[in-house]
Amino acid sequence: MTFKELGLDESILKALQDQGYENPTPIQAQSIPILLKGKDLLGVAQTGTGKTAAFAIPILQQLLEGEGPRKQRKIRTLVVTPTRELAIQIDENFSAYAKYTNIKNTVIYGGVKQTKQVYALHQGVDVLVATPGRLLDLISQKYISLKDIQYFVLDEADQMLDMGFIHDIKKLLKLLPKERQSLFFSATMPRAIVDLSKQILGDFERVTIEPEKTTAEKVEQRIYHVNKKNKTELLVHLLTTDMNDSTLVFSRTKHGANKIVKDLEKAGINSAAIHGNKSQTARQKALGDFKDGKLQALVATDIAARGIDIDELSYVLNYDLPNVAESYVHRIGRTGRAGSSGLAASFCMLEERPFLRDIEKLIQTKIPVVNDHPFEFKMEDAAEPSLKKQGGNRGRGGGGGRNSKPSGGKPKSNSGGGNRNKSRSRNSN
Ligand code: AMP
Repeated sequence: MTFKELGLDESILKALQDQGYENPTPIQAQSIPILLKGKDLLGVAQTGTGKTAAFAIPILQQLLEGEGPRKQRKIRTLVVTPTRELAIQIDENFSAYAKYTNIKNTVIYGGVKQTKQVYALHQGVDVLVATPGRLLDLISQKYISLKDIQYFVLDEADQMLDMGFIHDIKKLLKLLPKERQSLFFSATMPRAIVDLSKQILGDFERVTIEPEKTTAEKVEQRIYHVNKKNKTELLVHLLTTDMNDSTLVFSRTKHGANKIVKDLEKAGINSAAIHGNKSQTARQKALGDFKDGKLQALVATDIAARGIDIDELSYVLNYDLPNVAESYVHRIGRTGRAGSSGLAASFCMLEERPFLRDIEKLIQTKIPVVNDHPFEFKMEDAAEPSLKKQGGNRGRGGGGGRNSKPSGGKPKSNSGGGNRNKSRSRNSN
C-alpha cells in the first residue's frame, strides 16, 4: 500500500515525501482508513511504530476537507500526551506533515512560563498538543476553550495512568463536546485502561501492533551478567569498544542517572542526564546536544525517555534492568527504528535476574548472554557483606582489568548465565 492509495491530499503527500516516508507502516496502513471513515480508534501500539503519523495524517486530511471560510481559528483537534518530550515531538510531527497546508498547530506543557504558549494560542491554532496539567491550567484561566474540538487523541494512556493523570483526564473528558472523533492509544491494555477507553470511545475499531514484531525482532539484544560495583567500568568499557557511538543509557532512578553521568565524565565520556528533576531547558539542551552528536551518552529514566525520537540511534544500554517488563520493550524500541537495526545491551545483577526472566517471558525470546567480557559476574563478589568480610577482599576476581581482554565479546548462545545461583535471587523491587 502507498500513501497515495489512501486518498490523501497532495499537500500532505508532498510533506510525507519530504520526510522520506515511502510506505505507510503497519499501524498507519490499518488506522488511516478507519479514521478517514470517521470511526473512533483504539490503537494498541507503542512509540516507534509510526503511531504519531497514524493519527496526525488522517486528522490533517479531515481538517483540510472540513475547512470552510472562517473569521477566526478555533482549536478543532486536541492531542493529550503524558510528557513534555512527547508533546514537543508530536507537535513537530504535525508541523512537518502540515507544512504545505494552512493548518496551524502549537504545543503546551508545564515546567516553563506560560507567556509564549498563551501568545501562540492567541494567534489562533487548529491543532493543540498538550500535557494534562498545563492544559487544565490554561483552560481554568480561560485561555483555552474545548467547545470546538472535533478530534480528540489520548496518547500513551497507560503511561498517563502510571503518572497519576487519571483525575486530570476525567476532568478533561467532561469538557469535551460529545460529538467528536476519539482516538485512544496505549502500549498495554490492563483493566484500568480498558475501563478508561470505554469512557472515551464510541463506535470504535481496534488496531493492535505487537511490540515484538515491530521492534524487539529488529534489535540485536545482549545480556551482560555483572556485579553492581563493576557496572560503571563495564559501561565505560562498552562505550569505548562495541558501543563507541551515540548511546542512550537507561537508569532506574534519577539519582542513579546523575551518578552515571559523573562517572562517565571522569572517564572522559561526554554525557548528560534527562529526568524529571531536570528543568525543561536542561532536558531540551541535553537532547539537542545528543542529537547533534556532542554527547556520546544520554542517560535517562524511563519516564523522561518515553517517546524520545532520535534518528539513527544505534545503541541502547540498560544500566539497570527495568522491573516492569514492558518498559524493556519501550526502551529497546528507541533503537532499530523504521527499518534500521540496533543493538540493545543490558546489565543484569544477581538481584535483577527475576526481572530478566519476566522480560524474556514477555518477548518470548532468550536474550543471548555475553560470557567473555572483562567484568564477568563473580559469585564471590556478590556475597553478602558479612561473608565478604570473612573472605577478605578478593578484588575483581580474576577479570584482570578492562584492558586484559580485547573487547566486550560477542554473545554466545544463551548459557543461562549461572542459574545455579537461583536460590540467591531475590526481587529487589
Ligand atoms: P512514532 O512511533 O510516531 O514515534 O514514529 C517513529 C519514527 O518512525 C519517527 O522517526 C517517524 O518519523 C518515523 N516514521 C513514521 N512513519 C513512517 C513511515 N511511513 N516511513 C518511515 N518512517 C516513518
